[in-house]
Amino acid sequence: MNCARIPKVLRVGKTNNNIMLVAYKYRLYPEEEQREMFLKHFGACRFVYNWSLEQKINAYETDKTSLSCYDLNKLLPNLKKENEWLKEVNAQSLQQTQKHLDSAFTRFFREKKGFPKFKSRKNPVQSFSVPQNYKVDFDNNRVRLPKIGWIKTKLSKTFEGILKTATVSMTVTGKFFISILVEDERDNPRKEPFGHDTTIGIDVGVKHFATLSDGTKIDNPTFLKNNLQRLKVLQRRLSRKQKGSKNRDKARKKVALQHEKIANQRKDFLHKLTTKLVRENQAIAVETLNVSGMMKNHHLAQAIGDVSWYEFTRQLEYKCEWYGKTLLHIGRFEPSSKICNVCGSINHNLKLSDREWACTGCGALHDRDVNAAINIKKFALQDQNLIGVVAPGGTGVVPVGDVING
Ligand SMILES: [Zn+2]
Repeated sequence: MNCARIPKVLRVGKTNNNIMLVAYKYRLYPEEEQREMFLKHFGACRFVYNWSLEQKINAYETDKTSLSCYDLNKLLPNLKKENEWLKEVNAQSLQQTQKHLDSAFTRFFREKKGFPKFKSRKNPVQSFSVPQNYKVDFDNNRVRLPKIGWIKTKLSKTFEGILKTATVSMTVTGKFFISILVEDERDNPRKEPFGHDTTIGIDVGVKHFATLSDGTKIDNPTFLKNNLQRLKVLQRRLSRKQKGSKNRDKARKKVALQHEKIANQRKDFLHKLTTKLVRENQAIAVETLNVSGMMKNHHLAQAIGDVSWYEFTRQLEYKCEWYGKTLLHIGRFEPSSKICNVCGSINHNLKLSDREWACTGCGALHDRDVNAAINIKKFALQDQNLIGVVAPGGTGVVPVGDVING
């Protein structure tokens, strides 16, 4: 199984009206010679990247000058004379790698991100880019790359638009993929109006993957749990193998394959879920992610849960964009679990282990997660000025007027 066919929105152009860049990722099935050419491209691009980084560092250290991308491009022909083997690969891929280096420096200076590092052949994912002059043939399931030729490709989903940069990558388990960036000029659909009846609130948790404000509970699929167990076993076996031994290599490969399997299953599960949620509702309310808290988490199951939640909201975000639906975020500071969704009383004594509780204000009996999901929806709609009135008698929230959304 493989989820590579599902498009992934990289960014939505805001300056240029309605231009959307969408990345489509497909599995490549190269012939042996083509596989060798891929490896040559990875190696050559890595070589040029590292050489260029060295030139930049030297220029700065010797006479405090900064080499631009243009300066580096001009040095390429000479480098090729000294290293004949570089001529075997696509010259544009080599230039592109210098562009990547340039962006790495821009990020370093502007965003104070880490100083660009030298690339190693041991990096888990190897890649090179093809900025232009490649072809996609949907009828015959193949892609043509300069210097490599037609490569068998599983083009499981078609697209329309202008081809931008393509990136070929190899995973740690030796699979090849191509990611094609396409400029899509179709207009985004107009946003559908939404209101109390057409909005769903979602609370995510550890016990269930998600709980919806209508009372639905969505569990992590059981195969995912089983595969996580299996991963733990494989990791334990790996840790017992002697360093540098052949058996350790084998064990490491098994761990990598298991990671890949889990990632694919998780993505598949999330895609089905997010598509369903976006189709069935006009607006979806979620809590904003606490990214810094996520990074501190080292517990395996929890870490994977965090990644899922991140991926879940990412998918909701772009699918809402596609289908003309609205994703509403509320801040993390709202104590969604502790507030009674009926009367608004706060239960300060609520413990993490309490799955159900009775409100001392109005007597309502709450399922912890469903109550939280209802509150998430309520706060999100309040922010839109769609709700403000609490119904007397404790029947829940009453929408004020119907729906508008710009
Ligand atoms: Zn209450």
